Amino acid sequence: MEYQSTRGAAARATAAEAIVAGLAADGGLYVPAQIPHLDARSLLGLEYPKTAARVLAPFLTEYDPAFLLCAAQAAYAGFDGKAGELARTRPGRYYLELWHGPTCAFKDYALQLMPRLLIEGKRLTGESCVTKILVATSGDTGKAALAGYAGLPGVKIAVFYPDDGTSEIQRLQMATQEGENVRVFAVKGNFDDAQTGVKRVFASAQAAEALAQRGEKLSSANSINWGRLAPQIAYYYYAYCKMVENDEIRMGDAVDFCVPTGNFGDILAGWYAKRMGLPVGKLICASNENDVLTQFLSQGEYNANRPFHKTQSPSMDILVSSNLERLLFHVTQDAGQVAQWMDELARTGRYRVPDGVLRAIREDFACASITAPQAAGEIRRVFESEGYLMDPHTAVASVAADRCAREETPCVVLSTASPYKFPASVLHALGEETPQDEFEAMRRLEDISGTRAPASLRALQEKPVRFSRAIGKEDIAREALAF
Ligand SMILES: *Cc1c(COP(=O)(O)O)cnc(C)c1O
Repeated sequence: MEYQSTRGAAARATAAEAIVAGLAADGGLYVPAQIPHLDARSLLGLEYPKTAARVLAPFLTEYDPAFLLCAAQAAYAGFDGKAGELARTRPGRYYLELWHGPTCAFKDYALQLMPRLLIEGKRLTGESCVTKILVATSGDTGKAALAGYAGLPGVKIAVFYPDDGTSEIQRLQMATQEGENVRVFAVKGNFDDAQTGVKRVFASAQAAEALAQRGEKLSSANSINWGRLAPQIAYYYYAYCKMVENDEIRMGDAVDFCVPTGNFGDILAGWYAKRMGLPVGKLICASNENDVLTQFLSQGEYNANRPFHKTQSPSMDILVSSNLERLLFHVTQDAGQVAQWMDELARTGRYRVPDGVLRAIREDFACASITAPQAAGEIRRVFESEGYLMDPHTAVASVAADRCAREETPCVVLSTASPYKFPASVLHALGEETPQDEFEAMRRLEDISGTRAPASLRALQEKPVRFSRAIGKEDIAREALAF
């Protein structure tokens, strides 16, 4: 399978080259030149790692299928036997619990597997440089990437997070990370400060040269990398097959998926699944108050010139959703046009697509934007009426699913984080007092809900903090180069 850039000016690449490089040389994102067909019937009854290997194989053609299966088995061994766990709360409503991995957010699905694809990709392409991964994170990506890359040979990783922009649990997850090849920095500022600082290092020729002299090359663990997107296609197939196996639907019936969306990576994986032939009905794009995508999907104008809202669902707080570029390319098949829109976005913060393009997108996507009080109300309502506990990101999608629900069509809400990652917010939503200490909040949430916090989160309280330094945003480049 060949990959091409969404902006058309870079050479085509193999899957391994696309994964090792991250971004294409023209600033575009790599997309597969064709979208393979895969019949869900051929995956019925398979365990999760086998499903993942089978979904990846037609995209990663130069990787040995036996390697892909081994990699998937190793990647999902730490999921407690609950990879692809599907909960049903009432007829027609499901929650695909994607947080049973080591860091309790859905990003583990990609970030436990992608490091293995990177190492093998370096072998296949003969790349001998040390890969230096820089990550700006508002919380979940940072920890998932650290957990995926810690201890890997030929890789170093540095993570930058906003000083007071994460939950206390998220901060401790990162600050206690083990491994010689990892560094973690709090940045005095907000997520945009951290992200801008990291982007500047990627764009700097001087930094690239300094690194080259040490035998290092930069790469990204962000969902702009195809190696992060592709593994996420598998759980759409897996969930669908489970519903068929459990006689909830018949093979061929449409199922809607509702996705709490930030960078548009998770929901785009669902769109690839649909294009591969999975009977997906609508993909419902759920936003919080940062509703730039909802506005785009309803009116055809992407406009990032708007206030940035800090919400209770921080992983969806975003103004520029990178992966939308991939969808625009597939729908228009016009790289020159996509490059022009992205240039407009960079210069003016906005662009508008023609009605025909919007219409084509709306055949597959529905959307809704949900406020924080609505999401909090949903956490409480669903817990009280159905005994099911969810985190603030999942709650946004849960409300959006109700709003966009279609009669007769079952809807799977992607549950992207464990409620125990945000115990204070969840307790607050339930109308309970919220203790200052987040571990106290965790224990109270256990008492109230009768569920158990994931062991990896409970263990944080005992773990030594390794990284406690806060740096200025102007110091990001220096620290990124220094280790
Ligand atoms: C990253 C994240 C999202 C958003 O996913 P995208 O692929 O960026 O759209 C939603 N919920 C949680 C908990 C996340 O960590």
